[in-house]
Amino acid sequence: MTKFSELNLNPKVLKAIEEAGYETPTPIQEGAIPPALAGRDVLGIAQTGTGKTASFTLPLITMLTRGRARARMPRSLVLCPTRELAAQVAENFDTYAKHVKLTKALLIGGVSFKEQDLLIDKGVDVLIATPGRLLDHFERGKLILNDVKVMVVDEADRMLDMGFIPDIERIFGLTPFTRQTLFFSATMAPEIERITNTFLSNPERIEVARQATASENITQGVVMFKGSRKDREATEKRKALRMLIDGEGEKCTNAIIFCNRKTDVDIVAKSLKKYGYDAAPIHGDLDQSQRTKTLDAFRGGGLRFLCASDVAARGLDVPSVSHVFNFDVPGHAEDYVHRIGRTGRAGRDGKAIMICVPRDEKNFEDIERLLQKAIPRIDNPLSTGTTQDATAAASTPTEKPKRTRTRSKKSEQPQVQAETSADVGAPVQEPAVAPVQAPAPAPKAEPEPKQSRSRSPRGRSSSGERGGNNNDRNSNRVVGLGDHTPTFIQKSFAERYEGETNGA
Ligand code: AMP
Repeated sequence: MTKFSELNLNPKVLKAIEEAGYETPTPIQEGAIPPALAGRDVLGIAQTGTGKTASFTLPLITMLTRGRARARMPRSLVLCPTRELAAQVAENFDTYAKHVKLTKALLIGGVSFKEQDLLIDKGVDVLIATPGRLLDHFERGKLILNDVKVMVVDEADRMLDMGFIPDIERIFGLTPFTRQTLFFSATMAPEIERITNTFLSNPERIEVARQATASENITQGVVMFKGSRKDREATEKRKALRMLIDGEGEKCTNAIIFCNRKTDVDIVAKSLKKYGYDAAPIHGDLDQSQRTKTLDAFRGGGLRFLCASDVAARGLDVPSVSHVFNFDVPGHAEDYVHRIGRTGRAGRDGKAIMICVPRDEKNFEDIERLLQKAIPRIDNPLSTGTTQDATAAASTPTEKPKRTRTRSKKSEQPQVQAETSADVGAPVQEPAVAPVQAPAPAPKAEPEPKQSRSRSPRGRSSSGERGGNNNDRNSNRVVGLGDHTPTFIQKSFAERYEGETNGA
């Protein structure tokens, strides 16, 4: 097994690694660090949790210790899809660079331009940024990218989901052709393949885990859930969530609860709070200081339940999350793997429980197909009144995914006591005997904002970031041509017509 000391890293970086308590490099580090230090392009196919941040940060710091930054001309660039990931990379950078003298600036939305400008003006060695904010600075004439020697693209597949690829292509075009590129993606979608073929030069390709691999130390379970009546499904689902949490008892020290829509993130967090659970929401519409506060509280153990959207939580590194609850089945099977990967980190055991309603069964089948195994079924806690720990049987899953679609026979429907949608604002006590009230209208699907690919500030989401999430990926929506409008479309009809006649 390779040791860090054999990787040619700067001795001061090695000291910081030792202080961080790392003993041996992870496979992505072992694979990526030597070619990166040799000046080669790297294509790392790795998920979060594999140590990929250090696999580019460590060689980057080592390389940057030679030379100095010039005003407004950063020497390296790290692009991340979300503010949280960018902030996390910045934290990693601080940890590993603590014994060397390097400067960094974090360019993310929700922070004043002035502060960021001041840092850039002084000259920075590393610029860690979300693509939108970086281009904003560039367009304001505050940033020159001609001196970028190394460009890192982190979580490229998420960039694709969020509509950032045109921005990334543009940024590639603004940096010198001779730059070194370290490119990371959990998956290699055709569009990602295209980008790497275009912008990477003979990269060293390192693939550390299959994209469908869920960590072995995560126990999984699913409740095939059906409301007693369609109009009660949402409230009963929230009750089921509470019962599932309760069923885990003290083993559930903290948890991330994933919802597909931002509105549901808010509703579930509010509902849990009303019932006395220590919960808070995080998603792209909340202002940055709120998001940071919530995340810090969750990381520090001051918050037990983090209700999150994919975009807000993807890639976040909180080492000890005991449980992940999927309040909704994600619309894209790979997101399931990413979501549950928030637990069972750093060799710990984790548990992932999902609630699947009939309309999500198709997406659920996709997940089992991707995992190539069945997720053990847990009894509906509302039917049994308790949470039977069916996940205990997780070690002996059936070989073939069961058919999950059931006929809607009345007799099969769980006989549950109605809980109202007013639980969000209801008193904490006796939820099960609350009077039946008119159900609240189902919250409108509201995917996180899809970014405009135009550079107009009007294309901005309220969160100040470009991009949205992938919740609408299954909707077969035509997403437009982005920056790649063919020339013939840009011409007026008369021009086109004229061209044709002239050519004839
Ligand atoms: P990442 O995949 O970059 O999100 O890293 C996941 C976690 O692994 C982070 O908490 C890192 O601090 C940790 N980590 C990174 N490299 C190592 C290593 N060589 N040994 C132990 N932990 C590591």
